[in-house]
This record gives sequence, C-alpha cells and structure tokens, in this order.
Amino acid sequence: MSGARSSTATGTTGTADARPCGRFAPTPSGPLHLGSLLAAAGSYLSARSQGGRWLLRIDDLDRDRCIPGMADQFVATLAEFGFEWDGNVEFQSNGSDFHAAALARLQQDGHCYACSCSRSRVAALAQDPDSEPVYPGTCRDDPRAGSGPHAIRFHIDPAQPPVEFEDAWQGTVRQDCAREAGDFVIRRRDGFAAYHLAVTVDDARQGVTEVVRGADLLASTPRQILLQRALGLPTPRYGHLPLLTEPDGRKLAKSRRALPLSAAAASPQLWEVLGWLEQEPPAALANAPIAGIWAWAFENWRPERLVGRRERRLTAPPGAPAA
Ligand SMILES: [Zn+2]
Repeated sequence: MSGARSSTATGTTGTADARPCGRFAPTPSGPLHLGSLLAAAGSYLSARSQGGRWLLRIDDLDRDRCIPGMADQFVATLAEFGFEWDGNVEFQSNGSDFHAAALARLQQDGHCYACSCSRSRVAALAQDPDSEPVYPGTCRDDPRAGSGPHAIRFHIDPAQPPVEFEDAWQGTVRQDCAREAGDFVIRRRDGFAAYHLAVTVDDARQGVTEVVRGADLLASTPRQILLQRALGLPTPRYGHLPLLTEPDGRKLAKSRRALPLSAAAASPQLWEVLGWLEQEPPAALANAPIAGIWAWAFENWRPERLVGRRERRLTAPPGAPAA
C-alpha cells in the first residue's frame, strides 16, 4: 500500500507499519466449523509467511444472527488451534461511529438514496430463490422513500464500467455491478451499517492490506471496491479460497457445514484443512502437536497451488475418520 493510507473521515488509522496485514473476521452466528478453519488458516499462512500482521475481528454487527457467548468461544477455539493474532480482538460493533461517518460522506457526495422496499418485496424480484435479487432501483427517484422506515442503498452509476480486480488465486475477476448486483444496501432499516459498508470501513481503518476469505464472497468484492473508491480508501489485495462442496459439486450439506471444530481433534482437523489448501501435509503429521503442524505449514506454504481452485470437493465427511 502506498500513500493512499492517509487518515480520512472514515477513520483509516494510517499506521506507519509497512508490513502486510491480513485478518480473519468471522460472524458469531454459530460455532466455527471446518470451512471457517480453512479461511482462518489460509489468511494466517498468507499474512505471516510474508512477515505480516494478522488480526482477529468479530463481525458482530448483524445482531439478529449473533449468538451470545459465541465470540468468546471463537477466541478460545482459535487459541486452541494455535492461532496468534496481533493486538486485541476487534469487534465490528465498536466501529459504529466510523460506519456512520462513512455513510455521511457517501450521502454528502450523492452516492446513495433511501429505499422503503420491504425485504419480501425485494426478495420477490429474484430470478430464482438461490440467487441474490438485483434491485431494480425502484426508490431511486422517489423522495417519499425516506419519510418512513427505510434502508439506504448505494447508487451505482449506470455508466459505471465493470469493476475488475486481480485475485491471488481466481485470476481476473470482472463484474458489471449495475447489472449483476444492482444498487445495494449500505445501511439497514434498523440503522446499522450493512455488511458491505462495515467490512469496507473496518478493513481500511485497521490497515488491512490483504483479504483472504472463502470464494463464496468473491461476487461481493466488486461492490466493496466501489465503496472503497467512493470513500477514497485503498483497495486491499484479494485472495479467495476454494469453497468446500459435496463430492458431486453441490453446495455443502447443512449437516456437514455445521460440523464444529473440536479442540480434542485440533491436530487432525488442521491437518485435513491443510490438505484442502493443496499443501499435501505428510500423513505422519496428522496427530503431531499443533505447533509442529504450524511449523511445517509455514516452512512448506505453497500458495501457488491454489491458483484456479474455486472449489474443493470433499470425498468423505469432514472430521470423520477415513474408512
Ligand atoms: Zn426501494
């Protein structure tokens, strides 16, 4: 990152620390599972192998989804798995002032508008139940939309060229945001910042220079880049890790997704995840002490093996002993 890291109204800390900085930012809506461990390990190995910092942030803004006590459980579990983060654990809910300042700036610059559409009305616009609906801009020119309860949407200029970025592993990613994503919510009806705005502001204010996360978030990245540009924030480097899927390529079944991490099985679980990260850990390492597995992983980290890997098909139920 260059001089673009100056302090702004959005609270960019602009630290003089020139080291790369990665982060893991789970939502405390359920226990950490093997997919979480994959994202955590991938970002940890990437940042630390470059001599970088690595932060732990609890993305707890969506209060309806957060489970009390889950954040403490995350911290304990990650420590048991041998993760060491820099500084204190950050909570997204502590960043409300920064989110509000960013929203005010976007409003001032004419980047957004009030939307009074109900969730069900927007959901009904989706082509199929699995896809995200593309909001058609119903409230864009409706001055009455802001008089009652309303969300605030980011207005994508119809003339906006497709957003393009180089992903560390997924290559060139290109999205015509106006047509493929549509104007998106940046402040929810309940007054809290929506995901795209909060994550953009928090990554910037924490000085995050690389975002390594699951490929399920690949399609949301161009919208976050639009927000970075509108707010004058730097764009971090992105690396999207392969998504775990069923053997036939279908979305991972709920029962498998929910398989929690277990401190008692930390070594075999971390070992398995390293395999899914294409690192081919030796079999003898599967039950080694956790510190030994990490030492091997850092010494042998080969991120180039993930190039072009967008999904990882599982052969056996994760966490189950091999047949
Ligand atoms: Zn609307």
